[in-house]
Amino acid sequence: MILQPVKYLSLVMDFLDFHHHQPHKSGVYNLNINEEIPGGNFSIGLHPKDITENWTSDFEKIKEISFANNCVAIGECGLDGLIDVNENLQNEVFQNHISWAEDIRKPINIHCVRRFSQILHYKKAKVPLVIHGFNKKEKIGKELLEAGFYLSFGRAGLDNLSLQQLIKDFPLHKMFLETDDADFDIAELYQKVSEIKLISLENLKNQMWENLENVVNYG
Ligand SMILES: [Zn+2]
Repeated sequence: MILQPVKYLSLVMDFLDFHHHQPHKSGVYNLNINEEIPGGNFSIGLHPKDITENWTSDFEKIKEISFANNCVAIGECGLDGLIDVNENLQNEVFQNHISWAEDIRKPINIHCVRRFSQILHYKKAKVPLVIHGFNKKEKIGKELLEAGFYLSFGRAGLDNLSLQQLIKDFPLHKMFLETDDADFDIAELYQKVSEIKLISLENLKNQMWENLENVVNYG
């Protein structure tokens, strides 16, 4: 797949926001299935809360949209223990996303709430797996890392001390930064993480774009 040559453009590019829901922002926009394909990078998937009895027709649409070159990930999709959607169904829908991502060779952006032990069962997927919005215990973060997952950190990274400890130790080449649906400037998070990890803002920015390139062109 051909991606913009981000590595060489990153000096003049924005801070990569790996996962967000606002179409005017740059980074990776999480597209809604009824929207037009945007000009910039996007992801597309069925959030567990949006699973209905008719999910297969939504999923067909997702498949079609995901062929676009600027679709850089399948998702967000995954497992959520706090919503009122049957768990077997959630697993079935998630498994379908993984199989599809493997077919078209794109990474997966995972939404996971209170289902980390189940998510670990999917570690054998043949595509890069990124868990977005990670803000749980260090121990869980390290287990996920050991199992090969990438983690994307959001607003909690600004002030959650135990999460900051995880970020401090976390390998730079296995992480992303994002705003998700929170209202703050991603530059603040980059600033905080560069202080925590004792690296320059410029290096951090370049590394995040390189990580995107690596998960997109993993093959
Ligand atoms: Zn989101």
